[in-house]
Amino acid sequence: MFIGHYGIALGAKRLAPRTSLGTLVLAAEFVDALWPIFLMAGVEHVRIAPGITRVSPLDFYDYPISHSLLTGIGWAAAFGLIYFARRRYARGAWVAAALVLSHWLLDALVHRPDMPLTPHGRVVGLGLWNSLAATVVAEGGLLVLGLVLYLRTTTARDSIGRWAFWTLIVLLSAIWVSSLRGTPPPSLRALEWTALSLWITVPWAWWADRHRDARQPLARPAATS
Ligand SMILES: [Zn+2]
Repeated sequence: MFIGHYGIALGAKRLAPRTSLGTLVLAAEFVDALWPIFLMAGVEHVRIAPGITRVSPLDFYDYPISHSLLTGIGWAAAFGLIYFARRRYARGAWVAAALVLSHWLLDALVHRPDMPLTPHGRVVGLGLWNSLAATVVAEGGLLVLGLVLYLRTTTARDSIGRWAFWTLIVLLSAIWVSSLRGTPPPSLRALEWTALSLWITVPWAWWADRHRDARQPLARPAATS
């Protein structure tokens, strides 16, 4: 899954308004942010296999540290604890931990059965990526839902809050739409660097979010006497 993770991060702002969108994006994408590092270090492996699913041309045959459910629970706990130690915002820590874990659940929805429960244990996956329509509905739906929730929670304070935010959304949407064609990456190196480059979305989201304010709660209608 790609843009659906960002959708969940956007929507989570509603639950933890004091947590930066940068943190929420990092949490939702955390295991995908680790993945290219593990690939480059040679501890995880992927194969380019055009047509293996309708949408993704990748055979994820070995990613036990980043993408098993068990290690996912560990990453979630670590992320939540470190966030709490730094910010002392319990709500934000719980939401961030839930986002880290949500990554595995959402990936298990779209991946073919290649998502391990334990590092080298049973694999699961519902395989939504085998259908373009199902992928678009699931991922696009999460993006739209997240956007609506985020925009109902924050409002731009200045032009950076507006343009930095919307250019990020447009860029992510463009990457997502072009990925739907299932074109394989030219090489594993290119894939690793592309995946690594997505780290840029974390400071970008943090920057845009810093230029946005919480929307004032709606004033209660005056009681009529
Ligand atoms: Zn993933």
